[in-house]
Amino acid sequence: MLHIDIISVVPDLLESPFSHSIMKRARDRGLLEVDVINLREYAVNKYGQVDDYAFGGGAGMVMMVEPVDRCIADLKVKRNYDEVIYMSPDGELLDQPLANRLSLTGNLIILCGHYKGVDERIRQHLITREVSIGNYVLSGGELAAAVLVDAIGRLLPGVLNDETSALSDSFQDGLVAPPVYTRPADYQGWPVPDVLLSGHEAKIAEWRLQQAIERTKERRPDIWQDFENQEGKH
Ligand code: SAH
Repeated sequence: MLHIDIISVVPDLLESPFSHSIMKRARDRGLLEVDVINLREYAVNKYGQVDDYAFGGGAGMVMMVEPVDRCIADLKVKRNYDEVIYMSPDGELLDQPLANRLSLTGNLIILCGHYKGVDERIRQHLITREVSIGNYVLSGGELAAAVLVDAIGRLLPGVLNDETSALSDSFQDGLVAPPVYTRPADYQGWPVPDVLLSGHEAKIAEWRLQQAIERTKERRPDIWQDFENQEGKH
């Protein structure tokens, strides 16, 4: 079971992403537990203040150290955490290997920033890992945290019904996924490749591998390079 505590100033943003479909199933099956903690419960005054002006001036508010420190300290009373993650545009880029690694942990904290970001001392003293979901800036860390939790949660054993289906997704074997089709076999003159209708398992597997290789070369030469280097080592 993976337990994730998400610290946020906009907890409502995180309600829906984990209440449907595969994330809901993961929680219903007791494989994933997600708690969203409202940082305002740790505000520095009765007005719910958790942010303040930046020292040195400039536009935008900065999330304060104290509420985050007290919140994390409170969480740590109950659990030992493998990582305290801060979602940040300058963090380590989220990719499949990172999602795989994090899915093997037991307890995680994810801190969502807002406004101009968080006081640097939070990052220096309280955070163990910083993760970015891409080279663009969002208005808050909540959507990024939802992406991270989804990427991790679907990998937990027992979440996807057919466990091989996560293994056959793009990136898991170093290739992007081959094309897939469903009924009808011919839609108004748009046919499905014959081999998929042949019932010949070995031929289908071979075709899928070939397609995955061609697609990876064509669409993601960067990933193809890594794949070739890996294969060369074996
Ligand atoms: N001033 C900061 C951006 C703050 S955006 C800078 O230029 O780096 C506000 C918050 O959104 C951040 O604290 C972070 O938690 C979140 N965020 C924005 N873009 C993100 C991204 N690409 N990946 C992960 N988190 C992101």
